[in-house]
Amino acid sequence: MRIVRLPETGVAEAWREAARDLESRGVPGEVVEWVRGDAAASLFGDGGTPLDGPARALKVPRGFVDLAEKVTHHSDPQRFARLYELLLRLQERPRLLEDVADPGVARIMAMRKSVRRDMHKMTAFVRFREVEADVERGRRRFFAWFEPEHPITEITAPFFARRFGDMDWMIATPHLCARFEDGTLDFLPGAVKPAGGGDPTEELWRTYYRNIFNPARLKVAAMRSEMPKKYWKNLPEAALIPDMIAGAEARVREMRGREATSPPLRAVRMRERAKADGTEAPGGTIAALRAEAAGCARCPLHARATRVVFGEGPVGAALMFVGEQPGDREDLEGRPFVGPAGQVFDETLEAAGIARDGVYVTNAVKHFKHVVRGKRRIHQRPDAGEVSHCKWWLDAERALVRPRLIVALGATAALALTGDGAGILKRRGGVETAGDGTPVFLTVHPSFLLRLPDAEARARETALFRADLEAAKRYVAA
Ligand code: URA
Repeated sequence: MRIVRLPETGVAEAWREAARDLESRGVPGEVVEWVRGDAAASLFGDGGTPLDGPARALKVPRGFVDLAEKVTHHSDPQRFARLYELLLRLQERPRLLEDVADPGVARIMAMRKSVRRDMHKMTAFVRFREVEADVERGRRRFFAWFEPEHPITEITAPFFARRFGDMDWMIATPHLCARFEDGTLDFLPGAVKPAGGGDPTEELWRTYYRNIFNPARLKVAAMRSEMPKKYWKNLPEAALIPDMIAGAEARVREMRGREATSPPLRAVRMRERAKADGTEAPGGTIAALRAEAAGCARCPLHARATRVVFGEGPVGAALMFVGEQPGDREDLEGRPFVGPAGQVFDETLEAAGIARDGVYVTNAVKHFKHVVRGKRRIHQRPDAGEVSHCKWWLDAERALVRPRLIVALGATAALALTGDGAGILKRRGGVETAGDGTPVFLTVHPSFLLRLPDAEARARETALFRADLEAAKRYVAA
């Protein structure tokens, strides 16, 4: 008998590798015993003598990988053996999966269906409950107890990581616990539901989450941060069952709303401390603010960006420039306006006779919002909610820098500063006011010039942009 031990997490990949290896060497199903985690193998198992020679390539139909991924998460102890049996038969009959009347195929298909249904249920019925917040890091924590029919926590957890990426949470289940902390998903051994009925979350939180939540005791290291997209193609309808997820979503919405109105506790404390010990020198406090912002998780954008890109420039600068959000280059370098739009900005500043190191340059939103397409990270415009979450930092920068004039570069900056998100072309050249009364001069964003299709339009608009910057310079010189 050949024993194959499969891990508690990454089981689908481990099964696939082992099965490929065994099949390609002609090992029949009857001599393989599949064992999960720490389960004991049969008395007659010999652990398997090493197999000789390289494995040969294996052919499986296109849908088999997804099928195997689901079925390996079924609760039937025979699932690995049944899948292996099917894999062997597929080598003889490559189109076997199309024969739904075949009892072996029908059984496997039914298992996949059952796993899919269970995943849908989990995404819909998990109910988070807030437990104590991590005040130091400004992160709130949520906990949920759930009992799926199949061991699907590992393959369902990435759904929650995407949906609730701006909070720390744990979903405890009898077979595995998924933990999401600081944007990282990992897994811990399963929990035991406390006896006595009622809501188990409180007690589990006390006895399990808090005491056993010790990275040193992790049994399983971090898994892949995101599941392959194809794996999720059957889930969207679950996400569209609003009634089912309303409880959890409403909590998150409420949480986001509340966060937007209050500064992170640590920032407040740092500021109070600086006031108390007299170190509230303007430059020093900007540095503290930047350090505080580095850990900002007030909106989900932090989960995908590399870092916070904070403003830079002298405190007391007469001119403060506000862009939209960092781009790809800025996200990597950690400085505002250093990419292609930054180059246009720098050139026009120079042409207008404004020294960049004499002005304060920042963005309305401090994290790079984007979508990944292939190898590229495509910029996405921040929405009003994201702008409002980040406004706390912008307001704090403005209060410290105390510019005489702020230049809003584009509509997003204008929205953040004036509360009005109307089109910028009609407002450009005008002076409006920020919430604290600071005048705000409106102009286009330098990337607008980069998007113009022909050289003539670009030259014309560049001249207008330069004229705007010169007007702003005159305003503060007056
Ligand atoms: N665009 C912006 O709005 N800001 C940057 O920092 C870079 C590009």
